[in-house]
Amino acid sequence: MVAAEAYLDKLNDEQRQAVEHGATGPCGPLLVIAGAGSGKTNTLAHRVAHLVARGADPARILLLTFSRRASVEMIRRVERILREALGPQIGGALSLPWAGTFHGVGARLLRDRAETIGLDPQFTILDREDAADLMNVVRHELGFSKTHKRFPTKSACMSIYSRAVNAEARIDETLGRSFPWCAGWADELGRLFAAYVEAKQAQNVLDYDDLLLYWAQMAAEPGIAAEIGGAFDHVLVDEYQDTNRLQASILTALKPDGRGLAVVGDDAQAIYSFRAATVRNILDFPAAFSPPARIVTLDRNYRSTEPILSAANAVIGEASERFTKNLWSGREGGGRPRLVSVRDEASQAAFVADAVLENREAGETLKQQAVLFRTSSHSAPLELELVRRNIPFVKFGGLKFLDAAHVKDMLALLRFAENPRDRTAGFRAMQLIPGVGPSTAARALDAIAAASAPFEALTAASPPPRAAADWAAFAETIATLATGQAGWPGEIAAARRWYDPQLERVHEDAETRRADLAQLEQIAATYPSRQRFLTELTLDPPDATSDEAGPPSKDDDYLILSTIHSAKGQEWRSVFVLNGVDGCMPSDLGVGSREEIEEERRLLYVAMTRAKDALSIVLPQRFYVHGQAARGDRHVYAARTRFITAAMLGLFEAIAWPPAAAEPAARPAGTAKVDLRAKMKAMWG
Ligand code: ATP
Ligand code: MG
Repeated sequence: MVAAEAYLDKLNDEQRQAVEHGATGPCGPLLVIAGAGSGKTNTLAHRVAHLVARGADPARILLLTFSRRASVEMIRRVERILREALGPQIGGALSLPWAGTFHGVGARLLRDRAETIGLDPQFTILDREDAADLMNVVRHELGFSKTHKRFPTKSACMSIYSRAVNAEARIDETLGRSFPWCAGWADELGRLFAAYVEAKQAQNVLDYDDLLLYWAQMAAEPGIAAEIGGAFDHVLVDEYQDTNRLQASILTALKPDGRGLAVVGDDAQAIYSFRAATVRNILDFPAAFSPPARIVTLDRNYRSTEPILSAANAVIGEASERFTKNLWSGREGGGRPRLVSVRDEASQAAFVADAVLENREAGETLKQQAVLFRTSSHSAPLELELVRRNIPFVKFGGLKFLDAAHVKDMLALLRFAENPRDRTAGFRAMQLIPGVGPSTAARALDAIAAASAPFEALTAASPPPRAAADWAAFAETIATLATGQAGWPGEIAAARRWYDPQLERVHEDAETRRADLAQLEQIAATYPSRQRFLTELTLDPPDATSDEAGPPSKDDDYLILSTIHSAKGQEWRSVFVLNGVDGCMPSDLGVGSREEIEEERRLLYVAMTRAKDALSIVLPQRFYVHGQAARGDRHVYAARTRFITAAMLGLFEAIAWPPAAAEPAARPAGTAKVDLRAKMKAMWG
């Protein structure tokens, strides 16, 4: 291909070095380390495009991103750059590299080569909730919950397990470092985890962590390592500061000498240590290879106006440890970021709704604005306000479409048909049959596990006599699905036909739920097979929206609500940060150690640096705390986040809302909560 490389002229010198690194000669490892909005992601996209333009085979390039949304966006950018560069030479189709998350790519690779590491390729994937349920079943089977008072809860067990796997650490180390209050349970947890792993193997199910664990194993397996690593000439990773040890091991297994490996990240934005991410990955990267990685740093921020960047720099400037340097902005002018004092969360919601509409009047679309918060539940009063005012929104990182009971039921049916040894799915599906309870389901699942022909064992099971007819109908439906007679996505319709009377029986609001299932059927139609549908939906469930008709189409205009964690890498013209108060930022739960507080600081830095033109941090003076049972829910008087010190106040514009003279329009927070729960219940169950 001969490309006009005009796209290179749009880059600054450092970005260009990163893009051109090794494009013609030997291509050693590359690290781009730089602050927010300095063009890291953009540089990575250009690098991929440049490699392709210079003749690299797109099928041999792998691009790993943090979310699926990010990978789709990245591939779009690559395509845009290439089409512009190659002009009329290319017709319609343009082959593009493979982009995905570590988990998504792992799932595909494992499916293709499952046998090489003794896996059955028909495996199904457990989401976090189902995995925790399975852990709990095993925990009960071992009797720990009975014999040991104060044994860690199911979610604690799951977190410890997941942390140990992802950090590639021993259980006692993991406990000592991150869960000291569970330190006495190392032996029991060891037995529990071994039993959990066995249960997964027996059922042929994988949890999220297994997707990385088995991938790492496969990539390191002497017989196939070269084949797997050799499949890609280039492996590029965005947001490298939020990868964990296991992910780093995958990369080194794929590319032991670092050739063709390019990673970008910002240590000041490391916010995933609770998932075992470690900033050491990025700091240790250069020396991990011989010859060591080429390091490129970027120092100009192209995203935010100068006043916004100055405030963000001030906040991160107080961090105790940092590698990346402060950035400068070429975007002079624009107002200072605002610190908006409001009375309580209800006024906060009213303020944001007002401001969003004002911005829209001034010509900014809803999509160009976002509201960010520390924890998913923080947006509840705002969600109600938006629904009340008919402002459409999509929420990232919150409740998912798939969390609704009826949607989970439907997926359990499909998953059970896909893999009859998947007990979590089978257990849920069987109990949808009228007259079938946990003990009948468990007995039938035992029989299936022991049988060589699982579906025959399902038909032959002996449920209580009153359930016999319904059992037979269920078994027949599952058999229809399993044999693929109905075709895809016709299978969903077949499953719905069986499920509909159960829906009617169990739920009052069957009509709303039916609409969700119709939507699920539509989503299903966009996937080529049941297997792909189940895998990809489990790994990347659609986001919750305010619209009962489901996720909006690309052309609709809607406001983005997002946890800060899910807002990584993105940018909007106007950004509102909720609850900029101590207790939320840092979170009450995040002040246990200095490291935790520092991570909370980086979180605020990530939030602030999402804004291009306008930033408002809202400070409710009274804040509602959802306490533990002992303390109960209560209001507390909140203070400005400690990360914005008195010395920094000059960088902000402080305002009070509503202005003193105006009549406060807010309603009490209590009523808001009740309404919203009902609304959410109607939406997702
Ligand atoms: P984050 O740390 O938040 O992930 P980033 O470093 O990945 O940020 P990008 O998202 O790639 O930054 O870029 C930020 C913004 O700056 C984007 O709108 C991008 O288009 C723009 N940008 C990047 N490089 C340049 C450049 N050389 N000229 C003009 N605009 C640029
Ligand atoms: Mg980025």
